Amino acid sequence: MGKLKNEFSWSNSRNSVFRECRRKYYYSYYGHWGGWEFDAPDEVRQIYILGKLKNRFMWAGGVVHEVIKNVLEETKSGRVPLMNRLINLTREEMRHGFESSKNKMYWQDPKSCALFEHEYDIEVKDEKWKDLWKHVETCIQNFYSSDIFDMVKNIDFSLWLPIEEFQAFLFEDTKINVKLDFAYRDRNGSIIIIDWKTGKSERAGSDIQLGCYTLFAIDHWNVDSEKVKTIEYNLYHKRGITNKLDAGEIEEIKGYMGKSIREMKSLLADPVQNIASQDNFAKTLNREICSSCNFKRICLSEV
Ligand code: SF4
Repeated sequence: MGKLKNEFSWSNSRNSVFRECRRKYYYSYYGHWGGWEFDAPDEVRQIYILGKLKNRFMWAGGVVHEVIKNVLEETKSGRVPLMNRLINLTREEMRHGFESSKNKMYWQDPKSCALFEHEYDIEVKDEKWKDLWKHVETCIQNFYSSDIFDMVKNIDFSLWLPIEEFQAFLFEDTKINVKLDFAYRDRNGSIIIIDWKTGKSERAGSDIQLGCYTLFAIDHWNVDSEKVKTIEYNLYHKRGITNKLDAGEIEEIKGYMGKSIREMKSLLADPVQNIASQDNFAKTLNREICSSCNFKRICLSEV
């Protein structure tokens, strides 16, 4: 297999990193490139591994998303997994991930659990780790007893829409990446996209994110925007927020996306080949952002 090429693409999360700190954006989307190769330069390897760190809340959210994805897949294949068994397995996996991360095994195995708190020796009391597990357990239990799971498993499975790990659509010749959790078509031909939320905050997600889901559905499932609905379902609070964007809002989001893409490309040394030079990506002056940044080990030690 030939060498992978770093192609330019856009996503809402990429845009958020770009807004936070240009240098963080550079590390996340350019500086890490090739860090998986056995002969990668030391700094590239470090950037690659630091880029994989997750704080404990992101880790918990990721675990819940993975569990639900598996439950839905198994439900579709005809057997709903037993909740208590699944909770025990998840607890064991998290324990294993925690120990591995505590011993910083991710430096040898970048695919293993890598927690920001361990890399930066942040003291987190045992009680807080236990609370984190309780949060994951509550989200899984809430999912099983939720109206939404009840509704979803009673829909004809032929109406469930296939969701791949990575999905994308083209917008003004740029690939836009989206990560959908679940989608189905209702009897009227409308598309319903469900986005699982796991945080304690009940704040609604960004309109840009919802706009990307809607644009993906229009492109991929060939429907009009009026036929696309999103539900952000918070598994901790067991509540959903339903949204539907009108044509004007979608145009506004498209305008925002186009502007963001142009801004990103304007900083590239070679926008056609997607080549970036670190010097074009300034460090933020906001130290609060740096305090929770994965790359602070290498970035703040630079003179
Ligand atoms: S440590 Fe601060 S300046 Fe450096 S990449 Fe992170 S956020 Fe940006």
